[in-house]
Amino acid sequence: MSNRSASPGGTLAFRRMWADLETVGLDADTGGYRRFAWTRTDHDLREWFAGEAQARGLDLTTDRMGNQWAWWGDPDAAVAAGDPGLVLGSHLDSVPDGGAFDGPLGVVSALAAIDEVRASGLTPSRPVGVVNFADEEGARFGVACAGSRVITGVLSPDRARGLKDADGVTMAEALRASGRDPHELGPDPETLARVGTFVELHVEQGRLLDDLGHAVGVGSDIWPHGRWRIDVPGEANHAGTTALDVREDAMLGLAAAIISARRSAEEHSCLATVGKVDVVPGGVNAIASCATAWLDARGADPDAVRRVVADVRDVVADFDALVTEESWTPVTDFDPVLTRRLATLLGGVPVIGTGAGHDAGILANAGVPTTMLFVRNPTGVSHSPDEWASADDCLSGVAALATVVTDLAGPPAA
Ligand SMILES: [Zn+2]
Repeated sequence: MSNRSASPGGTLAFRRMWADLETVGLDADTGGYRRFAWTRTDHDLREWFAGEAQARGLDLTTDRMGNQWAWWGDPDAAVAAGDPGLVLGSHLDSVPDGGAFDGPLGVVSALAAIDEVRASGLTPSRPVGVVNFADEEGARFGVACAGSRVITGVLSPDRARGLKDADGVTMAEALRASGRDPHELGPDPETLARVGTFVELHVEQGRLLDDLGHAVGVGSDIWPHGRWRIDVPGEANHAGTTALDVREDAMLGLAAAIISARRSAEEHSCLATVGKVDVVPGGVNAIASCATAWLDARGADPDAVRRVVADVRDVVADFDALVTEESWTPVTDFDPVLTRRLATLLGGVPVIGTGAGHDAGILANAGVPTTMLFVRNPTGVSHSPDEWASADDCLSGVAALATVVTDLAGPPAA
């Protein structure tokens, strides 16, 4: 069933929406998208979402963080009746020079799935919503999933308002400039109470589904992950007059840290990345007096991730380096009953974990029964213009979502 496709009407709707978005925020030089929170481009995307909601007669609400919710049916009546709604959707923003699929595929597929279900003549037994989460990538203000973190209370409104972009503009200023009141920001239990179930469809950010030969898969969990700061001390001196044997070169400790992280990650089946370094004084002809690196480590097994960090710590101890934990997020399990149900419903599709964070993870941690659907990405690449999914696979994703809606919001079994 995972290779079932959308109806001709659903196919047409999907194609039209995809074409609408194709040029919004596209950078002609890089071929990537630059869709950052609370910019003109973001405003255009939000207007587009509002227009799609209106065209379908869905009721649009905006929560305390500016996340947009388009409802088919009355979400508050469902809360009162004790059977809150089913929500689909994802985000429309992007990383710098991101691909077309990460985010928009989930939103467009959700709207197309509603069209499919309607065309089938089904009247849902509970309301169905589509969400456009604000500022998922954190590309502008540095905090990923800001939209879901604020409404769930994980990110405090004061901290959110004070976050600054590269030009020194605070989130509060950016919100004001886009016509929103930054004082509205805060936890929004009323909005969350309407979400009985959340299913986020997303392009896969790896090649597991391609390897397994499936167009669609269901998410099991988000891997535990963390960030560590490595500070290596040294002594500044002249590159031309200081003999090698008397140097205290911080770069050697940094190099050892990077290589040990890679080796240990291979050994323990984890992922380890050093993608950001800061070297003082940073001169071509000066020995470094201090080198700082940030290690990102993640993997399916938290103990294995911890072992990678311990190995790095051991290796850099010889250089008197300090390894400090900056963040640690334990594994996020999606609802196991829901996950199994959808995997079976879709004909026994693969159930896969992911190393990337999503709004679905934030909602799952807030206690909302949540899972994800992934659509095959043969390049395995994401956060880049090379991110890709075939039109057929995207339409299989729409059909899968429509099946999910029919199951989770269909008439009660006789
Ligand atoms: Zn995403």
